[in-house]
Formats: sequence, structure tokens, C-alpha cells
Amino acid sequence: MIHDVAVIGAGIVGSAVARELSGHRVSVALLEARDDVGDGTSKANTAILHTGFDATPGTLESELVRRGYRLLSDYAQLTGIPVEHTGALLVAWDQEQLDALAGLRDKAEANGYHRCAIVDAAEVYRQVPHLGPGALGGLTVPDESIICTWTVNLALATDAVNRGTTLLTGHRVESVSRRGDLTTLGTTGGTVRARWVVNAAGLGADKVDALFGHRRFTVTPRRGELIVYDKLARALVDKIVLPVPTSRGKGVLVSPTIYGNVMLGPTSEDLTDRSATATSETGFEFLLEKGRVLMPELLAEEVTATYAGLRAAIDHPDYLIDTDAEQHYLLVGGIRSTGLTSGMAVAEHVRDQLLSAGMELATRTDLPDPPAMPNLGEAFPRPYQQADRIAADPAYGRIVCFCERVTEGEVRDACHSVIPPTTLEGLRRRTRVMNGRCQAFFCGAEVQALLEGNRS
Ligand SMILES: Cc1cc2nc3c(=O)[nH]c(=O)nc-3n(C[C@H](O)[C@H](O)[C@H](O)COP(=O)(O)OP(=O)(O)OC[C@H]3O[C@@H](n4cnc5c(N)ncnc54)[C@H](O)[C@@H]3O)c2cc1C
Repeated sequence: MIHDVAVIGAGIVGSAVARELSGHRVSVALLEARDDVGDGTSKANTAILHTGFDATPGTLESELVRRGYRLLSDYAQLTGIPVEHTGALLVAWDQEQLDALAGLRDKAEANGYHRCAIVDAAEVYRQVPHLGPGALGGLTVPDESIICTWTVNLALATDAVNRGTTLLTGHRVESVSRRGDLTTLGTTGGTVRARWVVNAAGLGADKVDALFGHRRFTVTPRRGELIVYDKLARALVDKIVLPVPTSRGKGVLVSPTIYGNVMLGPTSEDLTDRSATATSETGFEFLLEKGRVLMPELLAEEVTATYAGLRAAIDHPDYLIDTDAEQHYLLVGGIRSTGLTSGMAVAEHVRDQLLSAGMELATRTDLPDPPAMPNLGEAFPRPYQQADRIAADPAYGRIVCFCERVTEGEVRDACHSVIPPTTLEGLRRRTRVMNGRCQAFFCGAEVQALLEGNRS
């Protein structure tokens, strides 16, 4: 089969692009090296829906984060992706940082975000009473929000498939050849032919770009490690507590998570190994040192889990989205630390670039409704709390994961969904199962049996 367009990479960006393009009269294939969607950087980030207040004004990143915030907020309402508009407080700990707050507020204004306010130390402690001693002042960012990154990726990919996208997992692109109007992609899952190709391969984007003959950038995996604290810590903090950003990034924050925990992180460490998602002792020591200053009481709480994600940092100061009209090829590179927020806006930008490069994209009028996603958010009703659902279907009353209160009905639904999980990890991202205190110690065997039972 020949596709009009092949999108490489089923993270948030590739899934958003496939969804956007399949809203037009074209056939789309979404190629993913791994066995599931959302199994790369998009599964392991800090899950903040950014306003873009601290982006570099005038960059493509600033424009697309701002637009992405709006698009994803609206899409979340339509699909049930959980979002909590907690707001953020950026805290200054020394005079230099205090002096920087006015510049940050001006930067926010230049980015089109007008709701930041500088507050004094008393207000900082009123808003975050458990903050460590020594804060001198702060900057409020009322619209920064927390979101479920897993559901975002899954919703976009599910929507794409519902709109007709052919999802090809287990298809790592390893070679490219072009003859006439057609590109042939040699993949680990077989050959795929397409008239246009979009490279949204994240950490692998430079390698795929090289297959098209380009040598224009290198991806450096920038590891971010995080510590997730127990739900009992949630009372300590109800908003995102940010440091003053530096040239290395946004710094270490303390934030509630959408699952009802509190997280501390991330680190920022350039590596060479693009698969190095293990956590490290030095990373923890660094985070604990920061945490001791930010919120000493947090460190007395139990740690539920730790994880690390790799940002696709590149040697270019902005997103690198570029069309090679001759080869009918478009690169989406360097979506390092804001792609969860900007993904849907990146997809719109890709659509416009393809149109300008001559691709025919006629809008469809027969689109299916956006998918209704299961709620994984702690702040919203979940099946075990809904008597009417349990009465109608007792499987929603049988809890299999007690730490996270996940029911047999939710596991069953995930296994029979449009993009079912292939592994326990995939099931975790769809239900929250095994994501709590016991980390599968008590429920792992039963969950495995349920996964297998539902698949057979
Ligand atoms: C620690 C950390 C914190 C972050 N915090 C935030 C945040 O709070 N808010 C925010 O907006 N963003 C945040 N980000 C950034 C965000 O997570 C990323 O920008 C986003 O997930 C990138 O999505 P993607 O689709 O480009 O990449 P990915 O999710 O990595 O998807 C790329 C996909 O391409 C596949 N692939 C690679 N090579 C090939 C190939 N040759 N053939 C086929 N498939 C291939 C991979 O398997 C992968 O699934 C954070 C990132 C990190 C690491």
C-alpha cells in the first residue's frame, strides 16, 4: 500500500501530526520503532502544561508553546484528559534571583502572557506555607497547570487511528530510498511507501534526517531524573514551585502530580547514550540537596518511585522544523522540554508547512468525535467511586490495584481499547495500575494474569 504521508515516531509530536493530517483527505501511516505509542520521552517528563511565560520571545518555540497551551487545554476538555490548573510560583532565593523577577515578568509579557505578578516573601509563604526558609520573593504564573502526559499521547494516537491513520508499531525506520514521487522506508517491520514523510522521531530525529542525506544537527540526550513522593505528601504543596530558570533549563521544581503525588526534579545532564533512562545515585543526591532547601518537610515523606526521561536537546537554539520540498520530507527536530504542551501546535505548523510545500490537503467534513479517554486524574471521579457505574458493571467495583484504586473493569477496557497495551508498562500508562506505593509488589501477578486473560 502507498500512503500519502508517513509520520515517523508515535510520541506526542508524531501522534499529534498524524491526527492533524488525517483530518484531511489523505492516507496517513504512523510508524513507531517500539511496540507501543508514547513509550519514548513523552512517557517520562514533568507533565506540566506550560503557558510559555519563560520561553525566548520571538522563537518558534515561544509561538507554538503558547498556541499549544490553548489547543491542548481545549482538547483535554473534549476528551477527558485530566488537567489541574494549579498555577505556579517561581521563587527567588537570593538577591540576584529577586532582581531577575522583573525581567522574567517582562519576558512573559513579550511572550503574550500577561498574568504574572511579583509578590513579596510574605505572600510566597502564604501561598506555599511549607516552603523552606530563606525565600525573598516570587513571581506568580497563575495558568501553569499539571496534566497526564500518558493520556495526552494515547488520546492523540487513538484519535489519529479513529480518523483512519494506519498505526505501525514495531517499525523502526532504518533506510530511505526515493524514486520518482515515492519514498520507500525500510523498517524492522517491513517496507513502507509514502509520497511524503514527516520525521518526528524525537531522540532519533537526527539519525532519520541523515537517512535523507542531511547533516544539519545532532541530538544530545539530556537526562532529567525525578523523585515521586507518596500521596500523603500532597498536602504540602498545591501548586508548582519553580526555581528561577537558567540557560541550562527550567531547573528543579516541586510539583503536585495529576495522580495525587508530589514530585521533585528534574535534573539536567547531557549524556551520549540515547537509551540511558536509568536513574543514578548522583542524580538523587543532587535532587535531595535541592529538596532540602526547597521543602525540607518533603524529604521526610516516603518515596513512591523514581524515573528519568531524556530531552532531545540539539545544537540549535530553537525548534528545528524544516521542509525539504524536493524530497517531500519534513523534519521536526529539537522539541526538547516543551513538546508535551506544544505538540498540537507543532502539528498545525507541520500541516501549514506541507501545504506551502505543495502537498494537497483537503479538509474532511466526516470526522469521528474525539475519543473519550478514561480518567486517570486523582482530582476527578474514578470508576471505583461511581456507584452507578459499579451497579451497571460490577467489574468497576473490583479493585485490582489497591494503591491506585484501579479496577478490573478499567484493565479490561484498556485491553479492548483502540490501541491496546502490549506490556504491563503499557497497561500502567493506560490505567495507573502498579503506579502506587507497592510498585506492583502486591498486584503485579494478578494484573499480569488479567492482561493475558483479556488478550486471549
Ligand atoms: C525530564 C523531562 C521533563 C519534561 N517536562 C516537560 C513538561 O513539563 N512540559 C512539556 O511540555 N514538555 C516537557 N518535556 C518535553 C516533552 O516530554 C517532549 O518535548 C515530548 O515528549 C517530545 O515528544 P516527541 O514525540 O518529540 O518525542 P518522543 O516521545 O520521544 O517520541 C519519538 C518517538 O519516535 C520513535 N522513533 C525514534 N527513532 C525512530 C525510527 N528510526 N523509526 C521509528 N520510530 C522512531 C521513538 O521510539 C519514540 O517513540 C520534558 C522532557 C523531559 C525529558
